[in-house]
Formats: sequence, C-alpha cells, structure tokens
Amino acid sequence: MVTARGAKAAPRKGIRVREVDEPPYEIDEGQLRRYDQNNLIFRRAGHDPDFVGYGIGFDREGLKRIREGRPGYTRVDYALSEASWTVHDVWVDSFSWDRLPRPHGPSLMGDQWHRNRFEVEDPSEMAERVKRAAMFYGADLVGIAELDERWLYRNMRYTLEPVDLPEEMRYAVVMAVEMDETGIATSPGCPASAATGLGYSRMAFVASTLAEFIRNLGYSAVPAGNDVGLSVPLAIDAGLGELGRHGMLITPEYGPRVRLCKVYTDLPLGVDRPVEFGVGEFCKGCRLCAEACPVEAISRERDPGWEPSCGSSNPGALKWYVDGEKCYAYWLDNGTDCSNCVSVCPFNTGPPEASPEEFWGG
Ligand code: SF4
Ligand code: SF4
Repeated sequence: MVTARGAKAAPRKGIRVREVDEPPYEIDEGQLRRYDQNNLIFRRAGHDPDFVGYGIGFDREGLKRIREGRPGYTRVDYALSEASWTVHDVWVDSFSWDRLPRPHGPSLMGDQWHRNRFEVEDPSEMAERVKRAAMFYGADLVGIAELDERWLYRNMRYTLEPVDLPEEMRYAVVMAVEMDETGIATSPGCPASAATGLGYSRMAFVASTLAEFIRNLGYSAVPAGNDVGLSVPLAIDAGLGELGRHGMLITPEYGPRVRLCKVYTDLPLGVDRPVEFGVGEFCKGCRLCAEACPVEAISRERDPGWEPSCGSSNPGALKWYVDGEKCYAYWLDNGTDCSNCVSVCPFNTGPPEASPEEFWGG
C-alpha cells in the first residue's frame, strides 16, 4: 500500500495528522549556526580529551559480554549486528555525489539515453513519480521539502571539507526506513543494534538507487545518510513527522522506529507541507523515554528549553536537549548501542519489549 502521504502504512490508530503551513519548531536565528561535524560525539571520541568517552573502544566490553554469554550479547548476536551494517559500511560509493560507474561497462541499455535532461512539465506529478520510485527501492515513508540551508552541515563528516551543495540543488527528498520491531524491542541487546544497522544499510540502498534514478533523468543527485545535513529538521519540513523529547523524529506511522536518509537534487519537484499530530504537547506529559534511559541523558523537564546539554549539542532550537556524552558513554559500557528510548515511546507501533529468545524465535 502507498498512502497519499507517501507512506507504506497508515498512521497509528487514533492519530489525526493535520497539514500545517509552518513546520512545528521554534528557532532562535541569533543562536543557530550550521552544525560543525567536528563536534559530533563520534568524532569527539577520537580527538577531544575532555570527552568522557575518549579512548574507550567497544571491543573491551563486547569481548567481555561474549565471554559472559548473556542473552542478547552472545557471539551469534554480535555476528548478526555487525553483519547488518554491511551495505552501509562496506559499499562506500552508495553516498557518492556523482553518477556511479558501471565497473563492467555500460548496461544492456547502453550509456547514451540518460545524457539529456528529461523535461519536467509538472513538478507535482514528478514528485509523485519520485516518491513511488523511492518506495519501490525500499523507503517506507517519503516526503519532499524545499531545501533550507540552515540544515546543511558546515562540513563533511569524514573529510571536514565544507559542505558546498550547488545552488540549484533546491530540493531534498527525505526518506524513512522502518527498523525491525522485534529487534528494536530487545534493546539494549544486540538484536536492537542489528535492527539499527540494517536500517543504515537500507538507507544506503534506498538513497543510492533513488539518486541513480534521478541521474538517469539527466539531473544531479546527492544521496546522504547522516552526512551532508541534519535529517530530523529536513524530515519535519518534508512532512514526515515531529520532533520528540528524545531528540528523534516521531512519525505517525511508525513513531520513532525509523532511520532517515535523503537525496538532494535539482530535479524540479512539488513539495510537501509539514504536519502536526500533537507530539510536542504529548511529550510534555510523558517521560517514558527519559525513564527508560539508563544514564538520564534525556531531560525530564516538562517544557523544552534553549540550553544545550553538552559539547555536541546544536544550540538555537527550542527542544529537549539530549546529552549525547552520557548516551554514548552508556553505549560503550553496554558493549553495543541502545534503542531504549525508541522502543518505549508510545508512538512506536512495535512492542515496547521483547526477549532475545523471542527475536530469534522469529
Ligand atoms: S539511546 Fe539509550 S542511552 Fe541514549 S538517550 Fe536513548 S535510552 Fe538513553
Ligand atoms: S517516550 Fe513520551 S516523552 Fe519520549 S518522545 Fe515518546 S512520547 Fe515523547
């Protein structure tokens, strides 16, 4: 099924989705800057001696846990988790900014037909085709936004070179892929990490194939997972959902149990409107994610604020700032990552809890 919203599933029962003119977030222009990826927690772990996670690797805790053989942390669980990242981590070309070379020469269709530009007469109709293609390649939700440059990073994640998207790249096709519901419900065990890793691999697959589809129409496409720009505000602009207390996008269809990727393009496209379904108000009265967090990395304040929580925060938005230092330190202690805040969120349409045995039982 593909719904009018560009979704493979219907919104969770009881959720009423309303299109709005302005995205449901508040920004302080005086504070907001394009984010410097050198402040990312994963980068700071390598270069910032003040960061508590500095110098600690996953290996130490992982090995210890495998020896202990705890359910959800066995050698088999780790094997599942590590392998789930394969497409994302190994196929580095998936996020190439250029058309991908065919290592064995042109396909049977030759390599001339895609060199001219396809003439787009109706951007709204083109947008529908792009959404259908994205779903065909594996996206579970798709929305399109006019690109707001504030959401582009200042620099690229690995090279730290400036992010310099050509001006004509005015659109962002934002896609969500659902993460396995039973896997996520085993958090903080390895099957949850495997669900996350598989989400990343599916992001790489979907973003790269959609980018090639657009290039085959003679336009430019820049696919991105977490790099190039902030996925959550882009997804909000594209009408995929709202921001939750736990700092993640909450979608009407899957809650926060999704991963996000995007393709920036100059292909003329009709855009979507942002949506509201009451997340901001609901979160004020619900602290389930904060209570499920083993290290109190999520604010318990009733109202969102402007105060950053740690050196990896991105100030300038009214929200509940999640302490990425505490969160990452817990991942290191846990010997793998964590999705407690995803699984317990009442907007998650999967079960809040499952045992590793239930996961492996199928
Ligand atoms: S991922 Fe785990 S440690 Fe991090 S904020 Fe969520 S619940 Fe807390
Ligand atoms: S668990 Fe509750 S407070 Fe946290 S994001 Fe979900 S709805 Fe909001």
